[in-house]
Amino acid sequence: MKTITQIKYEPAKVVGGYTDRILRINLSTSEISVQELPPDFKTKYIGGRGYAIKLIWDETKKKTRYNSPDNLLVMANGPLGNDPGFPGTGKFIVGTISPLTDTFVDSNVGGHFGPLMKLAGFDALAISGISGKDVVITIDADANIITITDAPLYGEKIDIGALFYGERLLLNANNGTFSDNLAAVVSGQGALHARFGVINSLFFDRRRNRIRSKQAGRGGTGTVMRAKNLRGIVIKSSLPKANGNNAVNKEMAKQAGAKLKEVISKCDSAQLNLGAWGTTGLSEYMDKFHLFPINNYQIGQSPESSKLFARVFLDKYFSKKMPDGCYYGCNLACAKSVENFVLTTGPDAGLKVNIDGPEYETVGAVSNMGIFDPQFVLEYNWYCDEYSLDTISTGVTIGFFMECVQHGYLTADDIGYELNFGNIAGANRLFQEIAAGRGFGKIAGQGVARSKKWIAKRFAARKAVSPETVMAELDKFGMEAKGLEFSMYITRESLAQQAGYALALKGPQHDEAWLIFIDQVHKELPTIDNKANALIWFPLIRTWFNAAGLCKLPWIDVRNPEAANTAEPFKNLPSVAYYLDYLNGTTGSNKVLQDILDDSERLQLLQKMINLRQGKGTRESDRIPLRAVAPVYTNEYLTRSEYYDSWLKNLEGGNLPDSTEQKHELIVARRLEAFRQLCDIVYKKKGYTSDAVPKRETVKKFGLLDKQADKLLVKYGEQ
Ligand code: SF4
Repeated sequence: MKTITQIKYEPAKVVGGYTDRILRINLSTSEISVQELPPDFKTKYIGGRGYAIKLIWDETKKKTRYNSPDNLLVMANGPLGNDPGFPGTGKFIVGTISPLTDTFVDSNVGGHFGPLMKLAGFDALAISGISGKDVVITIDADANIITITDAPLYGEKIDIGALFYGERLLLNANNGTFSDNLAAVVSGQGALHARFGVINSLFFDRRRNRIRSKQAGRGGTGTVMRAKNLRGIVIKSSLPKANGNNAVNKEMAKQAGAKLKEVISKCDSAQLNLGAWGTTGLSEYMDKFHLFPINNYQIGQSPESSKLFARVFLDKYFSKKMPDGCYYGCNLACAKSVENFVLTTGPDAGLKVNIDGPEYETVGAVSNMGIFDPQFVLEYNWYCDEYSLDTISTGVTIGFFMECVQHGYLTADDIGYELNFGNIAGANRLFQEIAAGRGFGKIAGQGVARSKKWIAKRFAARKAVSPETVMAELDKFGMEAKGLEFSMYITRESLAQQAGYALALKGPQHDEAWLIFIDQVHKELPTIDNKANALIWFPLIRTWFNAAGLCKLPWIDVRNPEAANTAEPFKNLPSVAYYLDYLNGTTGSNKVLQDILDDSERLQLLQKMINLRQGKGTRESDRIPLRAVAPVYTNEYLTRSEYYDSWLKNLEGGNLPDSTEQKHELIVARRLEAFRQLCDIVYKKKGYTSDAVPKRETVKKFGLLDKQADKLLVKYGEQ
């Protein structure tokens, strides 16, 4: 294995959560350098998502695409990641220009890679350029060496102690024994062929005595990694993980962690029970409230759904009932796992494997294909992870094709085989083809937005109609916005979640606004103003978690009993107070809630400016498919006519038209109106124009009016 470049370096010490250094690697020139950050960088951009946004804003251009040499692949920790004394500190952010949306996307992922990156002396890695051949980067903080080498062959050992397993995963092993001083990120062959490739974050789980993986799943981060011909990054550091942030006020940080852990251990089992069920528990809730995506989001509830409820996975598949944290110190421990599962389909049929998951989103991706078979969920989960495919985008794309078959836009001849809802063999074949980049998988691997255009052109030619007419129809049920496939919630009945998806800066992903639970399940946002305020507050606090390097689940999924005594229990402010203590204890700051919301507003504004630059920032880009707002076809209306009629009656004062068609039409018109109205309120409250462009004074207020921003604002009429 040939060494291409190697440097010696002195790992910086972590002080108050930061190292104030970025590792820069240019794969075109094979240069490795260490950048010292100026003191105000962390003050303004916080960490994690903030660092990724700032680097992409400064160093990419309007023309930058996912596979341009100047595209950056940023992996960034936050100041609060890397402390086993506090729950949920194993998260880091991968940010880049997305192959799906052509604008900034980021995905948060757990494991040990983020913490080890910090212990190795870096707040972030920024990888630019494209290597001429497949390479691997190793960061050995024990030997003070950073190396770029040729990608090893199958089974070949890398000096740092990792074994390389061909097209698939790097496994970390140290002289034959696993070690938690090593962690890696890798991306497999699916990411080479599809636009929605993921990055696998690999870490050693001591309890299960095996390598596990979590995914930076959304937006095609793995596709970018493979486009750079980067096969993997391995980090090694033997520094102790306890007190890894070297907190300024250790006692304050420790107390905050202890309080949050206490809330989790007292409350989780009576609430979402994530510790026992993982996130699969959500399937039952979603089905109960007609929010579970079935048949490309056409229906939200089915008598068959119970085959995919948590109890099934718990009783039959989750092999060992034990805490499953993705990093030390998380007592919510939602990262469930299935051991010794024998695959029955695909090229590895007969192989006994271990599966990390399934998560709710993977379960929803399968029901969205009309499939209610837990065995298929697990096979789909394992293969997608192995190939590095996003289970969400893969499932939404296949579900969309199935509906195209249902309406006659695609035929078995177009695809090469039958692909109707519930067809396991067809779904199986298609995702294998996506991963291999062959057959119809070459089209599907482009995602819903690009596939729509292909189908419209082909169908229009066959039927001698205009592609625009076909496209207008496909737009109604092709479940993407800004180029990203929806995550797994039906939003027709939750106005707040509709706008949550529409206004999400990276596309319809619940990471930015997961309001469906408080809006539709708990009914805590009764008025349009409540919804608008939630659409401002929640994305801000969620952005802060992504900048700070923290998992949100211990906050949003475990409600502190004290929250009941507050004016807005759904914000869970008593737990937010622990996070503020943890922040101030770790970094030595003296921030209050409004300070962290302002920090997030600055990051959101900068992300919005990237979107504008890339042509995805105006109101038009906040469009979502009709299916996300209202029933598209009469059958969808009829399956929920009771609900829709009563909603309409409330609105119209009891005067409903007689015919089904007229009622359906009116429902569509009124729901689109409500959606528009809500967006208008949010734009105004955020200091944007009605075209969703931030006003000049808003950008100035947050200190972001640099030369690039100034030019962009002029272009959008903000003189
Ligand atoms: S709640 Fe789950 S995802 Fe979050 S840190 Fe804990 S184990 Fe990881």
